Amino acid sequence: MSAATITKAKRLIVKIGSALLVDDESGKLHQAWLDAICEDIAEAHARGQEIVIVTSGAIAIGRGPLGMRGKKLRLEEKQACAATGQMRLTQAYQNTLDRHGITVAQVLITLDDTEDRRRYLNARNTLDTLLKLRAVPVINENDSVATAEIRFGDNDRLAARVAQMISADTLVLFSDIDGLYTADPRSNPDAKLVPEVRDVTPEIEAMGGTPSEHGSGGMITKIMAAKICMGAGCRMAIAPGRQMRPLKALIEGGRCTWFLPAAEPRAARKSWIAGSVQTLGVITVDDGAVNALKNGKSLLPAGVMEVSGDFERGDAIQVTAKDGTVIAKGLSAYAAEDIRAIKGHKSDAIEKVLGYRGRSEIIHRDDLVVGA
Ligand code: GLU
Repeated sequence: MSAATITKAKRLIVKIGSALLVDDESGKLHQAWLDAICEDIAEAHARGQEIVIVTSGAIAIGRGPLGMRGKKLRLEEKQACAATGQMRLTQAYQNTLDRHGITVAQVLITLDDTEDRRRYLNARNTLDTLLKLRAVPVINENDSVATAEIRFGDNDRLAARVAQMISADTLVLFSDIDGLYTADPRSNPDAKLVPEVRDVTPEIEAMGGTPSEHGSGGMITKIMAAKICMGAGCRMAIAPGRQMRPLKALIEGGRCTWFLPAAEPRAARKSWIAGSVQTLGVITVDDGAVNALKNGKSLLPAGVMEVSGDFERGDAIQVTAKDGTVIAKGLSAYAAEDIRAIKGHKSDAIEKVLGYRGRSEIIHRDDLVVGA
């Protein structure tokens, strides 16, 4: 992989592990390291790239202020530490990125948010909007409210889910693990770094060891994150984060392991829509809309004639022409009931009819597969 992999990424997610950010002994933030990575982030932002930070560290930072340093924490104590640590964590990013004139926005996510369709779309829209406004979202798991059953527990998979959710093209996992090795480099002097993985085979999975050996956030969770990314068309790197300016080091050809997907995010998303999603309704559209869809446009309310089925926002639906021919399949931005109310209207009338201002499109072209 070349330097351009990072500099040409449109939507880049940088995941920062606790061990890099917080000193184990004192519980204090490594401010000099944070200053350095924020320089990297500011440079990427100045290049016009969209940057998202997924960061750990809330629990580690929150220990000190609550007098919990050095103790083994129960789940509810971790959640309490996260509650006070999280605000300090985001504030640290804001204070540091302020020097570069960058606005930070905190988004806390639970597993539910990535699995429930409606919440998934809401989170995605918020992140899209923040990125359009040139803010840098700082994301962590919502540790204070997520219970054991609904936690990610590790930010590697959280970062991969976010990548999938916002169709990011590149995710870099910075931690004290600097890549995938053929064996454990701590015990095996012959262990070699694997520079590139195009398919997560059982052999590759075996290189992650067993979960009990590495615990949460270890190699195995990184490989699981890679699988999610590759399915979503996002390339992912496991890269060393301990040095100063780790992103710069990577751009300059530093060692790491790249996991490379076969397709781009848009194509991967479309094949997911075409292949695996069951449709819950049908929209019949007029000839003008059929032409527009075939020309790669979004479906607007003006072209909708009929709606059948009972579906929610985010559900998959079919689009047919007047004669019943199936034209496309896509994810609806509105519930069936709402489309019945706005069909035939111009997009700027949506707010008046529904009483709220939703999206201008019934199905956005990114969520639409023509001919499926
Ligand atoms: N969300 C946790 C925190 O901020 C960390 C999870 C992880 O390290 O992967 O402290």
